Amino acid sequence: MSLIKVNQEKCNGCGKCLKVCNYNAIKIEDKKANIDLYSCTFCNACIDACKFDAIKIIQSDRKIDSTEYKGIWVIVEYFNAELKNTSFQLISKAIELSKASGDEVTAVLIGGKTAGNEKLKRIFAEYGVKKIKLIVNDKLDRYIPEDFSVIISTEILVDKPKIVLFLGTIFGRSLAPRVATRIRTGLTADCTELQIDKDGNLLQIRPTYGGKILATIISPYNYPQMASVRPNVFIKKKEPLKDAGIDLTVKKTEARSVISAKELKKILKVISNTDGAQIPLDVAKIIFCAGLGVGSKEGFELVKDFARVNGAAIAATRAVVDNGWASVSEQIGQTGITVRPELYIGFGVSGAIHHIIGMRNSRKIVAINKDLRATIFKIADYCIVADLFDVIDKLKSNI
Ligand SMILES: Cc1cc2nc3c(=O)[nH]c(=O)nc-3n(C[C@H](O)[C@H](O)[C@H](O)COP(=O)(O)OP(=O)(O)OC[C@H]3O[C@@H](n4cnc5c(N)ncnc54)[C@H](O)[C@@H]3O)c2cc1C
Repeated sequence: MSLIKVNQEKCNGCGKCLKVCNYNAIKIEDKKANIDLYSCTFCNACIDACKFDAIKIIQSDRKIDSTEYKGIWVIVEYFNAELKNTSFQLISKAIELSKASGDEVTAVLIGGKTAGNEKLKRIFAEYGVKKIKLIVNDKLDRYIPEDFSVIISTEILVDKPKIVLFLGTIFGRSLAPRVATRIRTGLTADCTELQIDKDGNLLQIRPTYGGKILATIISPYNYPQMASVRPNVFIKKKEPLKDAGIDLTVKKTEARSVISAKELKKILKVISNTDGAQIPLDVAKIIFCAGLGVGSKEGFELVKDFARVNGAAIAATRAVVDNGWASVSEQIGQTGITVRPELYIGFGVSGAIHHIIGMRNSRKIVAINKDLRATIFKIADYCIVADLFDVIDKLKSNI
């Protein structure tokens, strides 16, 4: 744990630090800079700006006592009383880890509107969760990473969980590093596997070097041990219902925002990262994926229309995205989204490892490719060696 301190003798209240602080964390009071730890992110900008060497980060030399840290927290995606389905995949993994480490799992939800406490208890009990921490405040309906990170960091410092898990979604990816910086702990982003070692440490496993190897990362000297996890790499699993009740703590937070009201007014509209008509890939049951074999933007649009008619979500390989035919939010693979649909159909996809990483857990894989030697055929359940446009024409005439 670290603190940022202003040396009162060196500070002359010049205000240079205040000008460079993007988090409104500094005030000049009685001609001295005063840093609000609640808002400070330890970004160092004020330290660099201070000509008088008056601001310093002080690392606490108190050795962390690992026995103080207990429990596994899962930060659930929860907006407008809506729970994101992929959160339950993470909860199921956390329950599995808890069986190895002996820690209890707490689902942590932050939001404005609540789904109703009894309903929440029922939903989470089905997945084996015994503890829910619900942090509410009217202003929390809109996701502001700066505010959410302050709230979660404060709760972590008070409750001292041993492990904290986030989803590797836009939500988790923007939140987890901010929390890690605030509480000065490690974070492994985008894990594809988690395990517990014999000492109870979290083994954070993720692909590295362009997916060529899997790295196992542990952070045994800092707590909590934190990771964000790719959606759809774990399976959600219901647990046998136990008689013991579920413990739900509702906490109301201060109605305070790091972002000024003026800045908030600049947010004109909140829009989804998909086009609205599109079924989100992380929950889609059927996915039609266009590869470079579609040949052009028109070819991609043709597959997209065919997907729409069949109630499928459209996706693409990175090659298609790089050509500007599809959007980044439609990309499946190592640098895109991981999917787990009931049915995946690849239209002119070769099956590069970077793509396969993101779709290999699909229940049934159909590949249409005119090259008999295409790698995707090695993992496909059904292989169609043909021109994709002929196949679409034939299927259309049979609908
Ligand atoms: C670090 C890194 C990260 C990456 N991340 C990703 C990622 O997240 N997602 C991803 O997808 N890729 C990713 N890639 C790129 C990846 O390596 C491949 O280049 C890419 O997946 C290939 O896309 P493709 O299958 O559409 O194209 P190609 O490999 O060019 O394959 C096109 C296929 O279409 C077939 N074909 C052509 N015309 C027709 C037709 N008319 N009918 C039927 N079949 C036809 C061809 O036989 C061929 O097999 C990454 C690469 C790197 C280096």
